Amino acid sequence: MVGRYMKHRDMNTQVSEQPLSNHAPDIGRRRLLLGSGLALGAGALASMGWPARTLAAGTSSMVQVVVFDDNGQRMGDRLVPLVQKSEAQWRKQLSPAAYRILREDGTERAFSGDYNKPDRPGFYRCVGCGNALYDAATQFHSGTGWPSFWQPIAEENVSRHSDRTFFMTRTKISCKQCEGHLGHVFNDGPKPTGLRYCMDSVALRFVPTGSA
Ligand SMILES: [Zn+2]
Repeated sequence: MVGRYMKHRDMNTQVSEQPLSNHAPDIGRRRLLLGSGLALGAGALASMGWPARTLAAGTSSMVQVVVFDDNGQRMGDRLVPLVQKSEAQWRKQLSPAAYRILREDGTERAFSGDYNKPDRPGFYRCVGCGNALYDAATQFHSGTGWPSFWQPIAEENVSRHSDRTFFMTRTKISCKQCEGHLGHVFNDGPKPTGLRYCMDSVALRFVPTGSA
């Protein structure tokens, strides 16, 4: 399984040159509408003398993720628009707790959320954008009070960043599709990866995929 884990990472770098495709799923098309709103803003900036080349790059932020349908079936790699919203739009969409985690890098209090492994099969999506993040089959009882997983549902769907806050060096995990903060990953997890993805439950939405 560790080998497969690395392979997904390699695959991620190899296919990143994929052209902007029309294969974006419906969820992506909605983001495109949002993108056109950003383009209007860009036009306003252009009239203020911003170089057009910079604006073009700013309006075409695409990210590669692996799309899963609501049955948990892997539908394949897709290039989708990065979900970008104003602070006001995020506040309107998210609960105050989810906003604090996703948009302000917060951490929920241990044992405060829904951290237990569900008693039925399913997977978790990001509450910010719907991106598939973790299969419940990879969830384990860590005793930490946060939902914990030994691998993401697809390596391509999360991003890692160094986090040097609180006098520690940790690795932050965020959602690839909306850049929302989700939690951290540590090297003290169980087999087969030895990793522990320690997530904030309010950032996740469980999608059941059938009876156990
Ligand atoms: Zn997201």
